Amino acid sequence: MVFSLSEKLWNQAQELFPGGVNSPVRSFQSVGRHPFYVSRAKGSKLFDIDANCYTDYVCSWGALIHGHCYSPVVRAINEALQNGTSFGANCPLEIRLAQLIRSAMPSIEKIRFLNSGTEACMTAIRLARGFSRREKIMKFEGCYHGHVDSLLVKAGSGALTTGIPDSEGIPASLSALTIILPWNDEEKLIAAFKKYGRETAAIILEPVPANCGLIPPKEGFLESIETQARAYGTLIIFDEVITGFRLSYGGAQALFGIKPDLTVLGKIIGGGLPVGAIGGKKEIMDSLSPLGKVYQAGTLSGNPLAMASGIAQLEELQKGHAYQYLENLGQQLEAGMLEIQKKLSYPLQFHRFGSLFSFFFTSKKVTSAADAYQVDKKKFSSFFTALLSSRIFIPPSPFETAFLSTAHTESDIDELLKIVYDTLKQML
Ligand code: PMP
Repeated sequence: MVFSLSEKLWNQAQELFPGGVNSPVRSFQSVGRHPFYVSRAKGSKLFDIDANCYTDYVCSWGALIHGHCYSPVVRAINEALQNGTSFGANCPLEIRLAQLIRSAMPSIEKIRFLNSGTEACMTAIRLARGFSRREKIMKFEGCYHGHVDSLLVKAGSGALTTGIPDSEGIPASLSALTIILPWNDEEKLIAAFKKYGRETAAIILEPVPANCGLIPPKEGFLESIETQARAYGTLIIFDEVITGFRLSYGGAQALFGIKPDLTVLGKIIGGGLPVGAIGGKKEIMDSLSPLGKVYQAGTLSGNPLAMASGIAQLEELQKGHAYQYLENLGQQLEAGMLEIQKKLSYPLQFHRFGSLFSFFFTSKKVTSAADAYQVDKKKFSSFFTALLSSRIFIPPSPFETAFLSTAHTESDIDELLKIVYDTLKQML
């Protein structure tokens, strides 16, 4: 494969951007090679500027549940574009997208749009603190909620990939207010609530964590979180930036039958344009400015192009067939991986939940971030590089999750399985 044009840009980028990138995992630093530059994408395929074509299992980190350049989304953006790019005033599209989200997630009575998942998580924390008049928050080790000061403590995703789950630049007095819990450990959860529950404004979680690899909750764990939080008057914040409109139309909360006080959304609700949202109980949401005293604002919030794109994406999902299709692809992948494991007995854990999947290079079961830290990063790098040379693009980090879209086909999955088999066989 030729990468000469990408290499040239990569050299320029390193002079222009810290680490050559505008978001850390894109540097491919953890897999020990330089990244490629994308020229265009369509459906499940990405094309780089050297004309290499990849089957894409990153899908803009889950935003593109219908794949790239999905016609209804492109059409909606084009139509909205004719009327302007930003108004700094209200537009009808905000109402439509809010109604779609509210009808999908009954826990959301009121909503506010922002521009990213990070912004939405930041506001959720401030709102929970302002509403409850408590200062502490609880989060789980390995969960990632954007680069919010209070939440960059034992964080997953790029923070973990680049080896800085506890970022510098955050006052110790602020991170001291963040209580870290191990995922899937009910005993420690109960103990933490006993000790800090009454001072804790909110517990924030990814209901199916996907930023430290994919680590689904053990049976009953989400229910325990709910029981504890309710007992101590601690608000529950579901960060559904990845799971919202992906695990089901109503997100993880519909799947598990849990009603969080606040929900954070992003990615899918913007159809690939920058967007975030926070929604929840009316009485909590009304604490936001201008009604309440918790301040939040945004020049580009409710941007007409992002709203139009999100509406088109959700209207397609609302039809319902996407979820069965994605589940079928997921099952095909899982069954194929089981076969591969039977044949090769490679020390690898494959996790799948709906249209999310990840590979852990370890012989031990992975149920927490601490388990995930034990993976063999070198083996992951070899695996990633081999897949990339076979034109398969998965997240360039052992601590991220891969995504299926409705643009993927059964033959894409067959191809992926064949390449995974050949790669693991070689690596044995
Ligand atoms: N929460 C979760 C669960 C995420 O996965 C992410 C990003 N991957 C964020 C929040 C932050 O979103 P953004 O990158 O849009 O700021």
